[in-house]
Amino acid sequence: MEVAKEVLQIAHILKQEGHSAYLVGGCLRDLLLNKEPNDWDLTTDAKPEEIQKIFPESVYENEFGTVGVKTDSEDPRLKIVEVTTFRIEEGYSNKRHPDSVSFSTDINDDLSRRDFTVNAIALDLNANDPITDPFEGQKDLKDEVLRAVGDPDQRFKEDALRLLRAVRFSAQLDFAIEQETFKAIKENAALLEHVSKERIRIEFEKLIMTDKAEQALILLQELGLLQYIIPELEEGVGVEQNMHHKYTVFEHNVKSLGYAVKQNMPLELRLAALLHDVGKPATREWKDYAKGEKIKDGKKGDWTFYSHQVVGAKMTEKILRRLTFPAKLIEKVSLLVYEHMFVYDPDAVTLAGVRRLISRVGKENMEDLILLREADRIGSGVPKAQPYRLRHLQAMVEKVSTDPVSVKMLKVNGQDLMSAGVEPGPKMGDILDILLQEVIENPEKNEKEALLARVKELDKMNENELSKMAHQAQETATKKQEEIDEDIKKKYFV
Ligand code: ATP
Ligand code: MG
Repeated sequence: MEVAKEVLQIAHILKQEGHSAYLVGGCLRDLLLNKEPNDWDLTTDAKPEEIQKIFPESVYENEFGTVGVKTDSEDPRLKIVEVTTFRIEEGYSNKRHPDSVSFSTDINDDLSRRDFTVNAIALDLNANDPITDPFEGQKDLKDEVLRAVGDPDQRFKEDALRLLRAVRFSAQLDFAIEQETFKAIKENAALLEHVSKERIRIEFEKLIMTDKAEQALILLQELGLLQYIIPELEEGVGVEQNMHHKYTVFEHNVKSLGYAVKQNMPLELRLAALLHDVGKPATREWKDYAKGEKIKDGKKGDWTFYSHQVVGAKMTEKILRRLTFPAKLIEKVSLLVYEHMFVYDPDAVTLAGVRRLISRVGKENMEDLILLREADRIGSGVPKAQPYRLRHLQAMVEKVSTDPVSVKMLKVNGQDLMSAGVEPGPKMGDILDILLQEVIENPEKNEKEALLARVKELDKMNENELSKMAHQAQETATKKQEEIDEDIKKKYFV
């Protein structure tokens, strides 16, 4: 276990000035687990003004009296070391933060306000008998147990974010939640409603990025927390699917996430995997058919989920916006959900078909769409479609990689069209759209002279005709999704 020399240096200076210096919180927990800490936190009896006086190169960070001491380390985690005065927190009338914070000269006061025993250990950097561990955090570290400090019920009532932090730490550390703590979370789950969506998002993001994200989601559901974070996922609990699936909607969403985690996929893909079938409960309908494997009201048939990708994409957008995710991520994840049902048949596919798919999805998203589909396939529990299909698609995407699939890639641009006499306005956009659709069908047409000749022809048409043609050529994305549903109906009779 090694403490960074910059941190030791700060502790040494504090001691020279007659103050104590303890390592606390996540960094000590991680050191004791032989893991590398994310950041370094020190706590001391020196008041914020005193810390600032001792370290003139410091910044006062927030209203709670944390001082950031600058070091000359190159390591970003060490550039600023947070030094906080021992604190007592009192009164939590809004279930979020204390009504008052006062400073203390006793390390035990500071440890008592912390959330979990494994986060409430202190290491005196200037002493021979250095560990202070009033809540037996070291024992819990050894036993791999997450336990609230003091009375769990009271601790969750004080600050409801701790409900979610418990699940996050249990996933991050792969620790079991101690029984009383578990019970108190369940009983106080509804308090999560008092916590800001932004704080929830930060914890949820950390949780979903751990290796145990799949288990963490199941735990969130069991504890009754999920309904306050993503109630739309809760709707899929116990919802039986059709013959292509072994699992319920909720189980399948979570298993798909599990695969995304196993493949170490980034946040966007983990969210897409978790949410890709979120539209299923809302679109579920029974259909009678003779070859059906299930029976309902005495008739053979199975469940259908037509357009669940369209409904699911809208829900995904709403969920992620509510959780204050950034706009770009929301756009990407909902696009992936919207497109995840794409039909791909290696025997029937044409290069133009692949170009049409890429044009709709965007070149930059193709790889992620294939990864999502893989997560969906494995997460079904009955992955009968062969992986070679997706590899085949990958190869086809590669094959058409230099073909034009967007207006940007046309060999003529707006400027060329103006020089050819086309007036700026809607007509110009329509002409470019028509040209794109034509070169998607046949890339050899992407040649400047030929395109300009075609521009002259198109420019002779009136605006209405042109607009109709552009729309027809483009075949709106919604229509494509309807076709996908039609294909599924034909192929599987459901
Ligand atoms: P990480 O590795 O994610 O940084 P961490 O334990 O350092 O984990 P932080 O959120 O950085 O977590 O908080 C630092 C410390 O502050 C925690 O270890 C804990 O002792 C205390 N703490 C943070 N948030 C709370 C809270 N809501 N209630 C009580 N104590 C808290
Ligand atoms: Mg930390």
